[in-house]
Amino acid sequence: MVTSPPDLRAADATAAGAAVPFSDLVAQHRALEEELVAAFRRAVRSAQFVGGAEVEAFERDFAGYCEAPACVGVNSGTDALRFACIALGVQPGDQIIAPSHTFIATSEAITQAGGRVRFVDVDERTMTIDPAAVRAAIGPRTVGIMPVHLYGQPADMDPLLELARNKGLWVVEDAAQAHGARYRGRRVGALGRLGCFSFYPGKNLGSLGEGGAVTGGTGDSGPDLIETVRRLREHGQSSKYVHEIEGYNGRLHAIQAAFLRIKLARLDDWNAGRRRAAAWYAAALHDVPDLVLPEVAPNTEHVFHLYVVRTPRRDDLRDHLTRERIGVGLHYPRPLHLQQAYATLGYREGALPVTERAASQCLSLPMFPEMTEAQVARVADAIKSFYRA
Ligand SMILES: *Cc1c(COP(=O)(O)O)cnc(C)c1O
Repeated sequence: MVTSPPDLRAADATAAGAAVPFSDLVAQHRALEEELVAAFRRAVRSAQFVGGAEVEAFERDFAGYCEAPACVGVNSGTDALRFACIALGVQPGDQIIAPSHTFIATSEAITQAGGRVRFVDVDERTMTIDPAAVRAAIGPRTVGIMPVHLYGQPADMDPLLELARNKGLWVVEDAAQAHGARYRGRRVGALGRLGCFSFYPGKNLGSLGEGGAVTGGTGDSGPDLIETVRRLREHGQSSKYVHEIEGYNGRLHAIQAAFLRIKLARLDDWNAGRRRAAAWYAAALHDVPDLVLPEVAPNTEHVFHLYVVRTPRRDDLRDHLTRERIGVGLHYPRPLHLQQAYATLGYREGALPVTERAASQCLSLPMFPEMTEAQVARVADAIKSFYRA
């Protein structure tokens, strides 16, 4: 079966000919080229390619960055989520509550760990999982909640954590789009039992290939749980050829860890660049009727992985911006609960109205750390010319 890649992948490839590209990794890497090449040369000369000192150093750096006691590097964000579910002991028939308005990796992890996903709606204003919907969805087989910090905005964690405490559930954060975001002053990734990150190239912190990480190690997400994740990524082994459990081949490559350490030092500056671009967008577009701009929830620091606006005339506006050679994306155009892959779960159209409306109205505008005020103005002008016509 052929799976079509997410929009980001296609948009990156066409950056060269765009008036304003959707994102611009080439610009980011140009500034880092010497350092990246030096890291590659070190890897070639040490012949240490999988695991080892670079991976351990990155794990220390990233745990520190997330203000989490520990971090385990893995092969992808999807592995991070799947290993988290398995480490938490998901059993066949266990129900895990997740938003439908997300990338499919969130729910794949639940299903592939043996659980059953219960999709719920998102909040109309923030586009993150709606705590009231979560409360209503909790049943006798519910074991966990998987909020997604969508587009770089932390989900509303306090009510979720309180629900989880009262009902004896775990919370695993899908932080794949939110490296460095804060909720009430605290970094995402250290708020739930475990935090899961992706280092896919287009993410706020991206490798030059695939990569991911699980963070945790506090309180009841203590050392045992993170140690189980560590074993799962390496065939379940606790020491060489000693297997108390079966695991996977899910390790982070040393070369990617080295690249990630170089980039991690810039992450706060890059996130500040994204926030600066978001502020320019907000100033330029706030008076366009019919266009709903992203809303930053109180007490959160949004890191704008994506800048997603909403309009009932989405398809026409997308076509207009594409004609103007402005890179755009759709995140996400078809809700997970209505996908063929989940037909057996029995959701009908209309089941999750906020998600379904978001799918038909969302449009992701160009967003990357190096964006200039002139580029934002170019996009804003093109949007305004669409509404004037
Ligand atoms: C990218 C992403 C993932 C998956 O990460 P990979 O590294 O591509 O496996 C999971 N969840 C969300 C919300 C994502 O955006």
